[in-house]
Amino acid sequence: MSFELSKQIGARRVGKLYTKNGVINTPFFMPIATKGAVKNLSPEDLKKLGAEIVLGNTYHLWLRPGDELIARAGGLHQFMHWNRPILTDSGGYQVFSLGARAKEKYGTSGVKISEEGVSFTDPIDGKKYFMSPEKSIEVQLNLGSDMIMVFDECPPFPCSHEQARKSMELTLRWAARCYAYFQQRIKQESEKYDKEKVISHQSSVRNEGKLDDSLPMTDDSRIVTRPLLFGIVQGSIYEDLRKECTQRLIEIGFDGYAIGGVAVGEPRQHLYEILDWVAPLLPEDKPRYLMGLGRPEELVKAVEAGMDMFDCVIPTREGRHGRLFIWNKQAEFQIPNFKFQINDQISNFQKNSKFQILNSEESDNDIKKTNADIENVPCSMLHDSSEAFYETLNIANEKFTEDFTPIESDCQCETCQNFTRAYLHHLLKTSEPLYLKLASVHNLHFYLTLMKLLRNE
Ligand SMILES: [Zn+2]
Repeated sequence: MSFELSKQIGARRVGKLYTKNGVINTPFFMPIATKGAVKNLSPEDLKKLGAEIVLGNTYHLWLRPGDELIARAGGLHQFMHWNRPILTDSGGYQVFSLGARAKEKYGTSGVKISEEGVSFTDPIDGKKYFMSPEKSIEVQLNLGSDMIMVFDECPPFPCSHEQARKSMELTLRWAARCYAYFQQRIKQESEKYDKEKVISHQSSVRNEGKLDDSLPMTDDSRIVTRPLLFGIVQGSIYEDLRKECTQRLIEIGFDGYAIGGVAVGEPRQHLYEILDWVAPLLPEDKPRYLMGLGRPEELVKAVEAGMDMFDCVIPTREGRHGRLFIWNKQAEFQIPNFKFQINDQISNFQKNSKFQILNSEESDNDIKKTNADIENVPCSMLHDSSEAFYETLNIANEKFTEDFTPIESDCQCETCQNFTRAYLHHLLKTSEPLYLKLASVHNLHFYLTLMKLLRNE
């Protein structure tokens, strides 16, 4: 078993995920290292921020510099100098979304889907490629990923029930092929995944650097020696399809389950419906990953629905465009089962690295009533109302020209410890590359702090 639940509060889960590169605390957020690097940040920066895992992109790394080259370099961990876990996506999403770009540029049809797989044109150089379920697994194994995703078809939105059914059936057939190929390769290369080999490799990696900043391994009995394989639930916005897809993936028996096909342009209320349909069906002893989301309030909602793993470009991308996340210190943000008292608790957390979430069991009736009221309000409204627990500050605004305070006075991130809003405003206005690093540091710190709060740390 790769997942251990240490605490459950309502549907929210706090636990540990065991991987071949160490134990990760859940729920967690993964900074995105698309091409083997988190934009503008070094692995050391990420570790200082407390990131325990990053996400690599199979499509991009396969095309450039190539998974075989990365394998010769010793795998992606070694290539990018990151000794903590890596999750890789299957490349499916990019095959479909970037194919459209090739069509604009080269006028070819871009993407052709068949039972066997997908042929597409690389929008950068116009070369033709073919991706199949087996190829995706092979590339991810070559990268040395800790968590591998099955190759799926992500249908666009809107999508008719008939189209969604057809696409889901293909996704399920591909998932079964991914599973079979994965098992075959693990068996064939059993020596590579031998327990003693993995343990001795780990200790050599650990002894290599002067500072051991890898994640703790577990005792021998629990050690994970091979990558984990995740199935992906599709089915668009249709309840029957989402539920059926979940059940049929569970029958195949994956190490973890992801919810895909969200954040593809559908209205956000569908996300909460999909979580309500799928999360209760997922096995309790397996990790659950919500792919490609989201805004802070969406992460809170998803954790509250029982999801464990997240990735999103929002903190780094928004930061690059001048939008910096700050806690709303006036808010008392409450959701069922726990509440954030931002004013006191965040300050305490920032100062003492200790934060308390009050469980509903400990709350009085008034709070329960308020929680119930809030549950009926969509998160987007929570975000817009005075109850929102955070806001974004646009550092490009002229009002920051002479603001010599940090982004947040009690934030412990490197940016806030050393630089002022006026300086960041100046760097952004003059397009200094340092701005990109400082903004990414602060916004990722905000996201990683939110996840710590949700873990009751
Ligand atoms: Zn900060």
